Amino acid sequence: MTKIEVLDPDTVNQIAAGEVVERPASVAKELLENAIDAGATSILIDVASDMAGVTKIRVTDNGEGMTPEEAVLAFHPHATSKIRDIADLSAIHTLGFRGEALASIAAVAEVTLVTRPRGGAALAGTRIVVRGGEVVEKSEVGAPEGTTVAVERLFYNTPARRKFLKSRNTELAHIYTVVENLALAHGEVAFRVVHNGKERMATQRSGGVLNAVAGLYGADLARALVPVEGKLPFLAIRGYISRPSESRGNPSQVVISINGRSITSRQIAAAVREGYGTLLPKDRYPVTFIDLSIDTGLVDVNVHPAKREVRLSREREILAAIAAAVGEALAGHDLVREAAAEPVQQQILPPGPAPAVGETASSYTAGHRELTLSDRQLRRTEGEGAENLLPAMEPVGQVAATYIVAEGTDGTLYLVDQHAAHERILYDQVTELRDAGAGSQELIVPVVLSLPPKESAALRDATGLLAGEGFVVEEFGRDTFAVRAVPAALGAVEDPEGVRETIAEILNGESRTAPGRREAVTCIVACRGAVKAGALLTHDQQKRLLAQLARTKTPWTCPHGRPTVVAFDKRKLDGIFRRT
Ligand code: ADP
Ligand code: MG
Repeated sequence: MTKIEVLDPDTVNQIAAGEVVERPASVAKELLENAIDAGATSILIDVASDMAGVTKIRVTDNGEGMTPEEAVLAFHPHATSKIRDIADLSAIHTLGFRGEALASIAAVAEVTLVTRPRGGAALAGTRIVVRGGEVVEKSEVGAPEGTTVAVERLFYNTPARRKFLKSRNTELAHIYTVVENLALAHGEVAFRVVHNGKERMATQRSGGVLNAVAGLYGADLARALVPVEGKLPFLAIRGYISRPSESRGNPSQVVISINGRSITSRQIAAAVREGYGTLLPKDRYPVTFIDLSIDTGLVDVNVHPAKREVRLSREREILAAIAAAVGEALAGHDLVREAAAEPVQQQILPPGPAPAVGETASSYTAGHRELTLSDRQLRRTEGEGAENLLPAMEPVGQVAATYIVAEGTDGTLYLVDQHAAHERILYDQVTELRDAGAGSQELIVPVVLSLPPKESAALRDATGLLAGEGFVVEEFGRDTFAVRAVPAALGAVEDPEGVRETIAEILNGESRTAPGRREAVTCIVACRGAVKAGALLTHDQQKRLLAQLARTKTPWTCPHGRPTVVAFDKRKLDGIFRRT
């Protein structure tokens, strides 16, 4: 009697087969999955490499182990203890199910397996060496409970595949990613990675996601994360997401697991991003660790050769729930960007030669005109908004006519980017006006645009879109248009050039989807109408700007995702000056 059986040919044919072993990291992934499936609570990954590449991957677990018979069977193609037939796949709780991994690895490498069943009567363990698919050695050895699998000479008999391997560091990085993703999905297991005798990473057992994050990426990141939770009858969402200030240029840190399986999914990554709305710039991705528990009947795991993707039933509901959960998590949190401690710890040096008078200095002298312009811009955005989402702060002054310096009641120092802040205020208002179908302002003198044929075609196409934003554009001659009204938020009655540039910018936008274009127009209008960097503001204007910002729905970033406010709390200031 063994727990492992060879699947019947019918079942085998229904299982999506695939090239499991692409590179050292695929070996690591399969061995780790087997260890987790065996109920291990502690797993050691020992990797060796030389200049040429990874020379050995050894995974040691304290899982249930195998009897001598099972140890031999484990290397048979399609031999598994995890399913009996295809129907079992709809209720699968293990990571493996094809019974192919050990067989495929052993076919292209030298594998040494040492195992002893947990709580078994036998005191001795089994040692098996398989090379190129052949068992070349089998013996009884003393061994602890659990299993060790060592894989050496990978692709020794398939030079073509060896040629495709990348540099040692690239292959190592792939291995580390595999461990990280599995560790994040399995807080119940302690993982330890050693490379050439040196510990590379370690996670604590029973830590949960947050502890794994701290172990893998450092306590600072873990502290900066915001918890996410969501529920549907067939779904539980749990995880942690970064504040918008912690973003990345690609989705590689959007880490997703479904029922303990680490997977990639562009749809889920997009849903997470959607939850951030305008808190993130278009091309930025958050750092998130999302764990989904979904009824196994709704998850088809039998779709990807390396089991990196799954197919979901009721996907739309699931994606909507994820976006909503992320949105809620962010709405409930104070997202003021905490200034990092490290970069400001240098001392301020004694003054050297005076810097040349540059652009910023000359813009201070803009004087009176700036003040009246800003006043008009601010007056437009006055009004009752939502509740106050920022801590109370009192402006102290302006730096470089660009940043407002403010003090919180608890002595926190705030720096506010005046342009970004006003952009956020305008963005909220333009959106609101637009959704209410209002917000047009007639120009006393229409602005006339004469355009080259290609651009006039684009403008003709965009007339409807522009009307939705409050632009009234009429064609009154060949390739000639009159702009009769503009969004109220623009208020650029006195500035025909501004109207022209705004429309040109809108026509140049890349977004193809209707909501994307509308969003882009709103951003452009907000940016255009906002108080500029370099504009002097009176104390009263600074105060009004901060008050308006506090009443926006997401005061922490501008619509492009840049931060509006940076905070240095009293403790951080004390630290900088070594008062602690
Ligand atoms: P699968 O995981 O899809 O079943 P594998 O080829 O990876 O296929 O493994 C074959 C079988 O060997 C598993 O079903 C399991 O019973 C056994 N096995 C593999 N690795 C271990 C391990 N680390 N501890 C205990 N049993 C293992
Ligand atoms: Mg397996």
